[in-house]
Amino acid sequence: MQSCVFCKIVAGEIPCKKVYESDALFAFEDVNPAAPTHILIIPKKHMETLHEIQDADKELIGSIFVAANEIARKQGIAQEGFRIVANCGENGGQTVFHIHFHLLGGRQMQWPPG
Ligand code: AMP
Ligand code: ZN
Repeated sequence: MQSCVFCKIVAGEIPCKKVYESDALFAFEDVNPAAPTHILIIPKKHMETLHEIQDADKELIGSIFVAANEIARKQGIAQEGFRIVANCGENGGQTVFHIHFHLLGGRQMQWPPG
């Protein structure tokens, strides 16, 4: 999608600090980190919100969690633990409308989130 910042990152039109790539997924450091480790994991395919996920996307979305485990191991946060967050729509706090999963680690997380 032409105007989407994350599609532009996947296409190499906007720079990023890439940490992972597969045929279907891409992951990079969040530009405004909320934790010592803050990675965004996205499907390369443009999908606006979690609410768009359908039966045909089950394998793709499941693969995000497998990738997250690999990234967490490589980032050295797997043993201590980490948090995966996905915001959906306005009330969910979503600001970039291309599905993404935040992988956060390197500090003690609090609950509930704001
Ligand atoms: P959300 O609020 O869940 O939609 O999260 C969007 C995230 O994307 C925020 O944490 C931003 O800091 C991050 N972000 C926005 N633009 C970029 C970019 N060009 N490179 C890396 N991260 C970005
Ligand atoms: Zn996009």
